Amino acid sequence: MDHQQPYDLIVIGGGSGGIATANRAAQYGARTALIAAGPLGGTCVNVGCVPKKIFWNAAHLAEQMRMAEEYGFTAVTPDFHWEQLKARRDAYLHRLNGRYAQGLDGNGVTLLRGHARLRAAHQVEVEGQVLQAPHIVIATGGQPLWPDIPGAELGITSDGFFALEQKPRCVAIVGAGYIAVELAGVLHALGSDVSLVMRRHHFLNDFEPMLSEHLMDAMLHQGINLLAQRQVRALEQQEDGLCLHFQDGDCLGGLDTVIWAIGRQPNSSDLGLEHSDVQKDAQGFIGVDTFQNTTSTGIYALGDVTRAPALTPVAIAAGRRLADRLFNQQADRHLDSSLVPTVIFSHPPIATVGMSETAAREQYGDESVKVYQTRFTPMLRAFSEEPEKTAMKLVTVGREEKIVGLHAIGDGVDEMLQGFAVALRMGACKRDFDDTIAIHPTSAEELVTLR
Ligand SMILES: Cc1cc2nc3c(=O)[nH]c(=O)nc-3n(C[C@H](O)[C@H](O)[C@H](O)COP(=O)(O)OP(=O)(O)OC[C@H]3O[C@@H](n4cnc5c(N)ncnc54)[C@H](O)[C@@H]3O)c2cc1C
Repeated sequence: MDHQQPYDLIVIGGGSGGIATANRAAQYGARTALIAAGPLGGTCVNVGCVPKKIFWNAAHLAEQMRMAEEYGFTAVTPDFHWEQLKARRDAYLHRLNGRYAQGLDGNGVTLLRGHARLRAAHQVEVEGQVLQAPHIVIATGGQPLWPDIPGAELGITSDGFFALEQKPRCVAIVGAGYIAVELAGVLHALGSDVSLVMRRHHFLNDFEPMLSEHLMDAMLHQGINLLAQRQVRALEQQEDGLCLHFQDGDCLGGLDTVIWAIGRQPNSSDLGLEHSDVQKDAQGFIGVDTFQNTTSTGIYALGDVTRAPALTPVAIAAGRRLADRLFNQQADRHLDSSLVPTVIFSHPPIATVGMSETAAREQYGDESVKVYQTRFTPMLRAFSEEPEKTAMKLVTVGREEKIVGLHAIGDGVDEMLQGFAVALRMGACKRDFDDTIAIHPTSAEELVTLR
């Protein structure tokens, strides 16, 4: 049956980017429909940022309790009840799903449930209904990749991690990106025996090397088993548990859980794109220009289905700016994806914005780049026998020492970065940092007192 109501905008995907676009467009008076195949909030709310941060908070508390003894408290060895936290987390996520539905309703967005496909350039079909609009936004996100090896189905992905009813006893995480590193840290802090298996020497290869080197040291020191230069060949169920087989003939057995964290792929394969001129690259990411335009007029894409940095605030910002442009006469409004601040919720956390030292040297030349860095024991760790250090680095260029990169790893850096990212966006130079009065005693003050 054809849906009679005419729309100005149809948004496909009820995740971070899709919801932000639909709400902003509807607030401008655009007649908007949003089609959602999965729970509202998408990856971030259901199997990404939010549930991950809840588990990171639990892991952080576990660490603080361990440290409490150094501050004169009686030693505590708390029991952790995974299933209790999971139940509370799920109830919280359920409430968030409801809030998103209320928000859409309050803005007058029509919410349709089901898997949407393009039927023609300006037509979308969902559950037998055909909708029409001059503007269509594809915000269908992505999903975890599975390895193409024998026994892969015996493992789980990050989606499966969030569905675990019990804490894994002995777990291997295969991957080298931020999700692999974050899950390894959380599981270790909550008491699992953790191995992290990576193909190359290091993890986080796309980041400033100082960060990954420091984190690898910290993880080894914490007792996480880091297995570098291992190519997984197969996963097998044996009597004493799961066994990972490597190309070099070695193996890692006795595991009860194996998590594949080897990357993500865009949800672009079953969208009916063949009925439009929308083009994808070899990995399936939809190509867009800086205004989110695809190669098909009136069809836009944003968020994880494109090559933009796969972060919730990036998808939201792209969607809101697109709505500003299409429905509020802000013709030049678009996402500037330079200087995107990123936090990795590892143990300790990482905060990073801008260029690595290597990238700056390649772009500006060695003589133009000056780096300031420090490594110190934060006061919080003053009583530890082997204190976990904090490291910070500023990458500057030119005579005015404009700051083009800021990288930090250590306690609390996750909450420090946002304000510094504003300063970098405003073009801050080293002198501006020097002229800013420090806040004492904090770790953040080190960033404005670097010599
Ligand atoms: C484990 C993990 C941790 C993360 N942690 C962070 C973090 O700490 N900070 C951060 O900023 N980002 C984080 N991210 C990334 C963040 O979740 C994504 O960048 C963000 O969700 C992307 O939003 P999106 O709108 O592009 O897609 P999604 O949020 O994935 O939403 C897409 C939605 O579209 C739906 N859909 C797909 N196809 C169709 C169709 N044909 N019809 C209708 N609906 C469809 C899907 O069901 C989904 O609900 C994390 C991701 C993961 C996996």
